[in-house]
Amino acid sequence: MSLDDNSLKMFQFIKRDALGSINIDPLQTGGKLTDAAKAALLEWGDGYSVCDYCGGVLDLIKKPPIEEFVHKALPEFLGTGAARVTNGARESKFAIFHSLAKVADGKNYVVMDSLSHYSSKVAAERAGLEIVFTKKVDKPEYRISPEDFTEAIEAGISAHGKKPLVTQITYPDGSYGNLADVAKIAKISHEYDVPVLLNGAYSVGRMPVNAKELGVDFIVGSGHKSMAASGPVGVMGVTDADSVYAQNLFQKSAYNKVKEVELLGCTSRGAPIMTLMASFPEIVKRTRPENWQKEVEAAQYFIKRLEDTGQFIHYGQKPHQHDLIFLESPGFFNISEKTKKGRFFLYHELKEKKIHGIKTGLTKNFKISTFGVGMENLKYVADAFEDILKKYDEI
Ligand SMILES: *Cc1c(COP(=O)(O)O)cnc(C)c1O
Repeated sequence: MSLDDNSLKMFQFIKRDALGSINIDPLQTGGKLTDAAKAALLEWGDGYSVCDYCGGVLDLIKKPPIEEFVHKALPEFLGTGAARVTNGARESKFAIFHSLAKVADGKNYVVMDSLSHYSSKVAAERAGLEIVFTKKVDKPEYRISPEDFTEAIEAGISAHGKKPLVTQITYPDGSYGNLADVAKIAKISHEYDVPVLLNGAYSVGRMPVNAKELGVDFIVGSGHKSMAASGPVGVMGVTDADSVYAQNLFQKSAYNKVKEVELLGCTSRGAPIMTLMASFPEIVKRTRPENWQKEVEAAQYFIKRLEDTGQFIHYGQKPHQHDLIFLESPGFFNISEKTKKGRFFLYHELKEKKIHGIKTGLTKNFKISTFGVGMENLKYVADAFEDILKKYDEI
């Protein structure tokens, strides 16, 4: 393409207008910036902006207080002995998988729940690990049970002649918002002397999660998914800071004594980590049990409102315990079959009503999130769904 001034303007792309809209996009509700993070984004947007006072180790920078954040506040928050900030949940998972794989002999594998996110799979692949999944889960609950892990570990041992390097559980899974019995899964895994990695991309920063209390060995989270950070930024923790897992994960370079190999020396620098830190006080508050309980109640209210129309089926754990909600909507689907706009009708209807977040073109099945939306807005969205169904004579 031509790189003249006029052509280059296309890259100064304006965000599709979610401004003034109610956002129910599961990818976005937990990553909306706090006011403090918005200010930090502007202030720290320049490249390498945090490196002014760096003595060689990014997470030991005292001003701004990155050291205090990474080495004190974050481990306390995650319930781990040590923590680091990374460039995302997937980078955290890759670092953990790779740190385990590099000290193991031969071909190895990880056991994962069958609802694992694609980023867990590619992280394992990139670390040279094969994957054994727990069995496929069934409609309508799509529940992963602890026994599924026993089965998968046994199947892995039969197929590979050795135990897995690690088991990974997605908490909650990114499709149905189901919360598996992690404590039990961890116990099962530990009976085989296999460490457990909790993928908290949809939990860390939204709800109370504590690695030590759940009995897992590693935990990862996503700053831009669930911690009100611009990102890309993630977190990772290892429960026992004195363990061989921690030693391998935080191994220092032979060529530069202060740089950690799995982190490629430094991870998040500049605005991503500064927005994460700026939102952290709010993150701590919003994940307190009493606040999370309100979010769960809001999600349950929204599900009930939709189910009461008779035109929505909610899949997943009941009563639902998370803001991520998977729905089937025969009503919307019927409309899409008969209207001229086809399956795009819903996007247009919702746009008009200033509701953002259902993927364009989806009508039959879709995911939404009620996180931080608030009761008043949720009532508005439920009313809007009803109005659309009425407009096309579905109820
Ligand atoms: C969004 C998501 C991720 C990816 O998080 P990144 O920080 O973007 O790497 C991983 N796992 C699950 C379950 C997710 O929903």
